[in-house]
Amino acid sequence: MPLREHVPLAPYTTLGLGGEARYFVECDTEDQVRAALVHASARHLPVYVLRITVGGIEFRDGPTPEVRAGAGVDWDTVVQGVAERGWTGVECLSGIPGTVGGTPIQNVGAYGQEIAETLVSVACLDRTTRERQTFTAEDCAFGYRDSRFKRADRGRYIVLEVTLQLARDRTPRIRYPELQRAVAGLGGLETIAPTEAVRLVREAVLTLRRSKSMVLDPADPNTRSAGSFFTNPVLSVDAFADLEKRWTGIPSFPADGGVKVPAAWLVEQAGFPKGYRGTGRGAGVSTRHALALVNLGGTSADLLALAEEVRSGVERQFGIRLAYEPEVVSPSSPPPSRSR
Ligand SMILES: Cc1cc2nc3c(=O)[nH]c(=O)nc-3n(C[C@H](O)[C@H](O)[C@H](O)COP(=O)(O)OP(=O)(O)OC[C@H]3O[C@@H](n4cnc5c(N)ncnc54)[C@H](O)[C@@H]3O)c2cc1C
Repeated sequence: MPLREHVPLAPYTTLGLGGEARYFVECDTEDQVRAALVHASARHLPVYVLRITVGGIEFRDGPTPEVRAGAGVDWDTVVQGVAERGWTGVECLSGIPGTVGGTPIQNVGAYGQEIAETLVSVACLDRTTRERQTFTAEDCAFGYRDSRFKRADRGRYIVLEVTLQLARDRTPRIRYPELQRAVAGLGGLETIAPTEAVRLVREAVLTLRRSKSMVLDPADPNTRSAGSFFTNPVLSVDAFADLEKRWTGIPSFPADGGVKVPAAWLVEQAGFPKGYRGTGRGAGVSTRHALALVNLGGTSADLLALAEEVRSGVERQFGIRLAYEPEVVSPSSPPPSRSR
């Protein structure tokens, strides 16, 4: 487990931006994670989890099939393996970049599906005790792009392994009209077997995501992003009714606790269309997706200035303060220190 020093982090981020890690270590096993924490603790170093490389993936067939994968496994490799077997449950999460270990942190989701729906358990290492602890989906307190790992227990647990439970012989249910149209365009699900239906939905999701530069592609400059930079705000029913008095034609979806308004719509209406370039010009809004802020060869400061410009513009226009989806780590907001 070699400890490297002064490692530039930009190559490890999809934005291609980032400072330098004083120390950097990749951990392939639980014991290596533990050893790295001991090392950091002895030197009073704050630890930020960026790259856990614990591998291993196991597909268990049966009446309710399961997949167990190490935190470092590429997420889409899991989705692909599940779809190839014709199992249902994660097909709408096709093409989301990142590792298995990252998925429970913000309860990754797309096209009306979330990891919370299939997750059975998450095995973690507790940074305060250095003991292994396993959480059920209920324990994780999942919400929209949210979980206990982002709130009360932010920075406390390192995910080592995730287990999902899928369904077999079941035609996927598609909730999003945009995806329903894409699936219909590929021939629809009515006349095909459930196993084929799962593969078709995956194909439709990947096609849709590519059209929005939401699948990583080194040849597509729009994918130098963090995906959606802002979450969709959920307003109380009263706040939404108030907004509707001032603005007509606001798209909305029912959500737990109120009404969800697409942040992309708010951003565009507030004067930041696709292709908008920030005042620093080193960052801009993707030409294909109004929520993706893209590094156009600038700096982290350019990107954060653009994020604030967009956020202030939306707040001025609609009185809604958008929340960032990615986590910003900077010298002024260092990672939480949890090791003893
Ligand atoms: C083009 C693009 C499209 C995207 N589309 C979507 C989408 O549709 N839906 C969606 O939900 N997200 C989307 N994302 C966001 C991103 O893919 C997810 O958040 C993903 O889960 C990040 O995984 P990661 O391994 O890269 O984690 P990172 O981005 O490295 O980390 C994210 C957070 O998780 C923590 N973390 C990561 N691994 C571990 C671990 N093993 N243990 C403890 N903490 C850990 C980090 O410390 C950090 O707080 C998109 C991103 C891009 C670039």
